[in-house]
Amino acid sequence: MIDTVEILGVRVHRITMGEALNEIARLVESGGEHYVVTVNPEFVMTARRWPGFRRVLNAADLSLPDGIGLVLASRFLGMPVPERVAGSDLVPRLAGIAAERGWGLFLLGAAPGVADRAADALRSRFPRLRIAGTFAGSPRPEHEGEILPLIQEAKPEILLVAYGAPAQEMWIARNLPRVHVPLAMGVGGVFDFLAGEKKRAPMWARRIGVEWLFRLAQEPRRWRRQLALPRFALLVAMEWMRRKH
Ligand code: UDP
Repeated sequence: MIDTVEILGVRVHRITMGEALNEIARLVESGGEHYVVTVNPEFVMTARRWPGFRRVLNAADLSLPDGIGLVLASRFLGMPVPERVAGSDLVPRLAGIAAERGWGLFLLGAAPGVADRAADALRSRFPRLRIAGTFAGSPRPEHEGEILPLIQEAKPEILLVAYGAPAQEMWIARNLPRVHVPLAMGVGGVFDFLAGEKKRAPMWARRIGVEWLFRLAQEPRRWRRQLALPRFALLVAMEWMRRKH
């Protein structure tokens, strides 16, 4: 059992990148169906408004602390997570493990052509990697009739879904029992990064915890979404005071 911390109603595992990869490998090999979520403050704020999303997050087999806000909040609440485990750092490492073990990857989501280019980028790093399939599609339920048979026939071990939160997590919760994939994970903008559509922040910026600022500079329309950050910080501070008194 991996230790967890609850942050404003959302449970997150207290786990390092290395432990997360080991746990994912264990889940893939243990049979059944599992899913991983990469929680950041926007997820938590959405979960507060939408109990259905919160239930999906809290039922995940693995909830990774993706986002410096989560790392800081966990410290503030006295139950620190050891480090940030970002989906965009994890996916290439996971592809490396998949290549070694012969697991197939299915890349679902992002704009047309992007999943293909992301798959090419992964294959050029890991020539033995098996790409079971790629498809853009859309998170709308009316497109499931087209998408589900593709995944069922491809039989991947790992399904990466890039529809952005909360759509990708809701898609996984709805469809995982129908596609029977050992491990599914919502990956947000990861295909865009792999395909070179968008640039990730430089390493120094990730290290000091300002990757979100770079994303805002690249995509100014994110400002409305990122209003969740100060609201999240305020609620964490209030929670801290409540626990102290
Ligand atoms: N996306 C999609 N269909 C949709 C909405 C989003 O394919 O209906 C894709 C979008 O192209 C992008 C990803 O989902 O590749 C979400 O990216 P975003 O940067 O919003 O995700 P984050 O990393 O912030 O969760």
